[in-house]
Amino acid sequence: MPARTGKEFLQGLRDDRQIWVGGERVRDVAGHPAFAGAARSLAALFDLQHEAADVCLMADPETGESVSISHIIPRSRADLERRHACLERLAEWSVGLMGRSPDYLNVTLAGFAGRDDEWGAHGNEAGAANLVAFQKEAARRDLALTHTIVQPTIDKARGDVPAVGDEVALHKVDETAHGIVVRGARILATLAPFSHELFVYPGAPLLPGTDDYALAFSVPMATPGLRFLCRDSYSVAGNVFDHPLSSRFDEQDAFVIFDDVEVPRHRVFIDANLAVYNSVMLTGWMPNIMQQTSIRAQTKLEFAWGLATRMAEVINAATGTGAEMLGELWSYGEMTRAGVQAAEQGAYDWGRGVWFPDGRPFRALRGLLPLWFPRVNEIIRLLGSHNLLAAPTSGQLADPTLRPLIDRFLHGAKGVTAEDRARIFRLAWDFTGSALGSRGEQYERFYLASSGRAFTRAQSYASPDRARRLLDRFLKEELT
Ligand SMILES: Cc1cc2nc3c(=O)[nH]c(=O)nc-3n(C[C@H](O)[C@H](O)[C@H](O)COP(=O)(O)OP(=O)(O)OC[C@H]3O[C@@H](n4cnc5c(N)ncnc54)[C@H](O)[C@@H]3O)c2cc1C
Repeated sequence: MPARTGKEFLQGLRDDRQIWVGGERVRDVAGHPAFAGAARSLAALFDLQHEAADVCLMADPETGESVSISHIIPRSRADLERRHACLERLAEWSVGLMGRSPDYLNVTLAGFAGRDDEWGAHGNEAGAANLVAFQKEAARRDLALTHTIVQPTIDKARGDVPAVGDEVALHKVDETAHGIVVRGARILATLAPFSHELFVYPGAPLLPGTDDYALAFSVPMATPGLRFLCRDSYSVAGNVFDHPLSSRFDEQDAFVIFDDVEVPRHRVFIDANLAVYNSVMLTGWMPNIMQQTSIRAQTKLEFAWGLATRMAEVINAATGTGAEMLGELWSYGEMTRAGVQAAEQGAYDWGRGVWFPDGRPFRALRGLLPLWFPRVNEIIRLLGSHNLLAAPTSGQLADPTLRPLIDRFLHGAKGVTAEDRARIFRLAWDFTGSALGSRGEQYERFYLASSGRAFTRAQSYASPDRARRLLDRFLKEELT
């Protein structure tokens, strides 16, 4: 099957998956009010790749069929540029609000398959071969994947990773004639209801002796024993005027329980192999995936700046303190753009002919973005003030007795109509203050670890050479 259409994507969601929202097990994801809006949006994203085929599709190197460029294993800077154009087009569609659109894991998987030698180390040749085959299958069947790589938090004092005997964290409990059996739980599978498969790969390095927790695999969403506990839906049914973002972009997040799940052998990529588990995430994973997620972040920041600027203009507040805050907001988007560009221009062969961006700008962005996004929301809320909550609905605007009054008393500055004013403030509130907006802030703070963890990691990877040379001049001066 070549790249899916939206219709084909939706058809792939009809199976026996155990998706729970509220107190209900959902039988028809695409038709359920909690999920229908986002399902339609994701279907449109699959259609978009055909509409923008010149930017989004490429010929599969072996079969010649059309597949998404997000599956490309980059082997040159030109490949990264090509991928950039596709990722940017996809990010623009949800203005960066769907952080885990399928291209996120397509890029991740392509990076892993490109360095299958790392996956095949320490006696894991069979796992690496399974991974390479799965990457090709994911591209050719155009699978939407969700993923979960973090152990649930039960007791912070126990540390980030499971100790020997931990019953909660995902671990292997048995072998069968066909594969392995896994049990436990993991957080937090974004996009789960809208995915075809669940991809499990390594998170934080594990402790010696906890080999049974060292797993990587992929299983279809309807695999027996898998249960997905979705958070409350922030999807709001209704027209796009009233809820321009919440009606479309709630990508969902789910806690995953593995109640003795059998993983077929050909889908096991790491089978209780601590050495591989603890090494495959240390090299190219970060610079590879950061290209996707930073392009998305840049898109969202540029949208936020445009939104804030238009909002300030509507009430003629884009000068003085307003201009200062707007300029601050613009700077975050611009620094993200510059970081992506620097990383891509500094791309090099990371081994075996696979090209990933320079990791340094991305390590800096990784720690900074979780701090910038909450500030962006703060700026929009400061600029918007009470106006964010005085924005009539489409129903109020449609009422013939109210409309003349709204037009008279709730228009904007410099001739901005009441309808346009309402439209912009409703959009700004949906972006920052609605349940979806609030979840978006939580996402930006944590989806790739907190800022604190990212800075700690940046410090451990930073090259001290030039800084030392600059410093040594003063430290080695003769005493006079
Ligand atoms: C909306 C959302 C969607 C997500 N989607 C996914 C997904 O699709 N797949 C997936 O696998 N995971 C997903 N996650 C989970 C995400 O991977 C984790 O939340 C993330 O790794 C952070 O881990 P944590 O929650 O344990 O928080 P921690 O990193 O432990 O942070 C909690 C607090 O402790 C502080 N802290 C902890 N350690 C340090 C340190 N070393 N230095 C400084 N400060 C520290 C932090 O600053 C923070 O205040 C998602 C999370 C959210 C919120």
